[in-house]
Amino acid sequence: MKVLEGLQPASVFKFFEEICDIPHISYHEKEISDYCVAFAKERGLYCEQDDHYNVIIIKEAAPGYEDVEPIIIQGHLDMVGDKLPTCPIDMEKEPIKIMVDGDYITADGTTLGGDDGIAVAYGLALLDSKDIPHPRLEVVLTVCEEVGLEGATAINLDTCKAKRLLNIDSEAEGVFTAGCAGGMRVDCHIPVETEVKSGVLCEVKTQGLLGGHSGIEIHKGRVNGNVYMGRFLLTLKSKMAFGIVSMAGGVKDNVIPKNANATFLVEEAEVENVKAAVEEMNRQLKAEYGVADPDAELVLEVSGVRECKVLSECSKEKVLTALNVMPNGVQAMSQDLPGLVETSLNMGVMKIDEIEMQVSFALRSSVVTAKEYLAAKVKQMTEMLGGVATYHGDYPAWPYARESKLRDLCLKIYEEQYGEKAEVEIIHAGLECGILSGKIPELDCISMGPNMFDVHTPDEKISISSIARVWEFIKSVLAEK
Ligand SMILES: [Zn+2]
Repeated sequence: MKVLEGLQPASVFKFFEEICDIPHISYHEKEISDYCVAFAKERGLYCEQDDHYNVIIIKEAAPGYEDVEPIIIQGHLDMVGDKLPTCPIDMEKEPIKIMVDGDYITADGTTLGGDDGIAVAYGLALLDSKDIPHPRLEVVLTVCEEVGLEGATAINLDTCKAKRLLNIDSEAEGVFTAGCAGGMRVDCHIPVETEVKSGVLCEVKTQGLLGGHSGIEIHKGRVNGNVYMGRFLLTLKSKMAFGIVSMAGGVKDNVIPKNANATFLVEEAEVENVKAAVEEMNRQLKAEYGVADPDAELVLEVSGVRECKVLSECSKEKVLTALNVMPNGVQAMSQDLPGLVETSLNMGVMKIDEIEMQVSFALRSSVVTAKEYLAAKVKQMTEMLGGVATYHGDYPAWPYARESKLRDLCLKIYEEQYGEKAEVEIIHAGLECGILSGKIPELDCISMGPNMFDVHTPDEKISISSIARVWEFIKSVLAEK
């Protein structure tokens, strides 16, 4: 017995469950990509699969719809693989276990991949249908969206005839996304030198930080673990001599780092003062971040006396400068749209060993020149510290179009179906629409999707009733002549 059997619309849930049965985290999309190709072959549909495993499947217009403008239905094949520490599933190789809980589908101990499996399920259900009226359908499914929009960057859309694109990668029913920020990653490498010293080994770690997505949550005033660790050491410098052994923090450039740590040596007589400094920083944390990040704190572990390599004083100065003076967080708010972050960056990953300090930033802006200037600032600071900064994964913003026939159509149909007006928003996170717009001149895009919660976490869930309503909505958009 299938878990989703009996749910309506049956075909959407059937394909969604089949997708959940195939492991498909980023960089491991071959199997799901091949599944889509086999699906197309079985139905005699035109299909393209490129070397990256991006897939395009085309279905000609239903009778009577030959003259209606073709449309691209688009989503991504990959999902974020996150799980609870206790979950035994190997997400690269083993399927997740889905469950129904009231109106929600969720996965046991892992991310669900409703982001963006539901787009794939809708796409396949449309291609599979025999009785849904539609114009020429071009279903475009990309890989590696979650790791920097890599599939969208690489895909060739020459076979597509459509000039309009419905991206199904938004997470709030009734909110249509009509623009997003561009972004890039900046990696900094700053060489360091070490010397051998002895002293009491102390380790300070962050604990209880909320973290979050650097596009969606950057304005929430949460603690960045890496930056805060730098701040702690800067404070410590005013109180005592110490030698940095190592530092590390963060997991991805676009995730606000929750966990950061620093190990350092101090003289035995200073241990009590280190404890007092941690307590003082925790009081400051509460005072400054008590609302935005209420459980954030530093914890100290003191080990015995050690002799080991620590950063030279000159290298320590460089590290403290990088962590405390490099820009981080919101840099500018939009002048056009109140409340929208225009430009930001996140010091996502930091690591210091005997050879170098590595720092990776995710930069975002809806203004190209503001993004370029911010990248240049980070580069300038890195070079001042004797290091090298490199740029990666640059993707363009998706600018809001003053006129959009597809947006007008969606808003009209939404109001007819729901009896209320939908919202239109521009977001600070990245979407594939920006990149894909660059490949088809004057492409008219909109992004939407059913209600999902806690995406990219093991608590991810998707609403069954919302999936059904959005399915009706998509069919109405396609039925329009
Ligand atoms: Zn997504």
